[in-house]
Amino acid sequence: DGPVVIIGAGHGGYQVAASLRQAGFSAAICLINDEAHLPYQRPPLSKAYIKGTAGPESLMFRPGKFYQDQSIELVAGRAVSIDRAGRKVLLASGRPLPYGHLVLATGARNRLLDLPNANLPDVKYLRILDDSEVLRQIMPSKTRVVVIGAGFIGLEFAATARIKGLEVDVLELAPRVMARAVTAEVSEYFQARHREAGIRIHLGVQATAIEAEDGKVTGVSLSDGRHLPADLVVVGVGVLPNIELAAEAGLPVAAGIIVDEYLSTADPDISAIGDCALFNSPRFGGSQRLESVQNATDHARCLAARLTGDRKAYDSHPWFWSDQGEDKLQIAGLTTGYDRVVLRGDPTRKAFSAFCYKGDNLLGIESINRAGDHMFGRRLFGLDRSITPEHAADESFDLKGALA
Ligand code: FAD
Repeated sequence: DGPVVIIGAGHGGYQVAASLRQAGFSAAICLINDEAHLPYQRPPLSKAYIKGTAGPESLMFRPGKFYQDQSIELVAGRAVSIDRAGRKVLLASGRPLPYGHLVLATGARNRLLDLPNANLPDVKYLRILDDSEVLRQIMPSKTRVVVIGAGFIGLEFAATARIKGLEVDVLELAPRVMARAVTAEVSEYFQARHREAGIRIHLGVQATAIEAEDGKVTGVSLSDGRHLPADLVVVGVGVLPNIELAAEAGLPVAAGIIVDEYLSTADPDISAIGDCALFNSPRFGGSQRLESVQNATDHARCLAARLTGDRKAYDSHPWFWSDQGEDKLQIAGLTTGYDRVVLRGDPTRKAFSAFCYKGDNLLGIESINRAGDHMFGRRLFGLDRSITPEHAADESFDLKGALA
């Protein structure tokens, strides 16, 4: 037994602590937090929060009193090494924290641009509350932003910046937006919607340099020879999992900290969850590393259950969402590896779902402004059922009936 020490107080770290207490875990819990805020939700940073109405309190999972009441010690600081033989974590302050079980919930960090002038102050990233806070403060004084990367975060930010009156250009190397994550049908829908809103989307191009004068950003040069003026650049080119602490402690890592289907590393006293974990998934075959609130939260619950005596393999069904301007995208299941896409609903009416099949096997559903289809998908996958492509395409087919 002994104390549970959790490195990282993001979605996964917070949830392990809360779920442990909920399950009656009574030993000490230390939640190491290297951000200067109470644990908070990340998704609004590129959505509601950056629009600028609510204060930081609106993002917090729980008020400070919760941690006191639950005897969860929030330890401010950064973990710098793990002494596996001595079963303790060392903080940057020099404080050692002994553990009975150690949870690595270190998340991911932004992949940085390696371009001339990329370290100027008006080149911004969006990962933590402080990033979002700075952007919302400087946006009113900016007129033109170039967003590098048309992934979820880049597009969410672009939509918000446009609503706030900025001129917006988005650069994407791939031939379509969100190419790694969604079907071509959904990419095309969002490209059209963002363009309707006045956002210029440039596909198949790369930024080659940030241009600046006297240390101020003046624009971005592109691989096709063009130059886009800008007084702000926001970069969303993906993340890198924080695996270094684990690697330095001799734990196996690859594109994440390697854990089994119980989320245990090679050391039975150390687990890893959330964005940093490359987990073995019997359901999907092979290893997965996912970047979503669902994944971090469900990992946390699965681990808390194991640490309180209920040992089960992690087997949750993935789901995800992204709000872009007036549109809500929701994804149930994993929409990769499909060979057939069936649409339900009508993109021209701004409400449809893309059902993704491999053969007759439904892998996932991408829904746009069709929350009912999304919830149907989550329930269907939860029951380990499927529906035929013909039924998916037929709007008169009663989805609820398939759940009965
Ligand atoms: P994180 O929440 O990133 O937490 C990791 C924490 O560990 C961080 O606070 C980090 O600073 C800390 N840490 C790292 N190393 C150390 C150390 N050595 N010592 C101490 N602390 C350390 N997902 C969705 O499902 N839907 C969305 O709409 C969505 N929108 C998003 C919008 C934005 C702007 C961002 C950035 C992410 C979004 N995500 C969304 C992704 C989601 O937030 C992440 O998948 C989720 O936060 C992962 O949780 P985590 O606990 O693994 O990592």
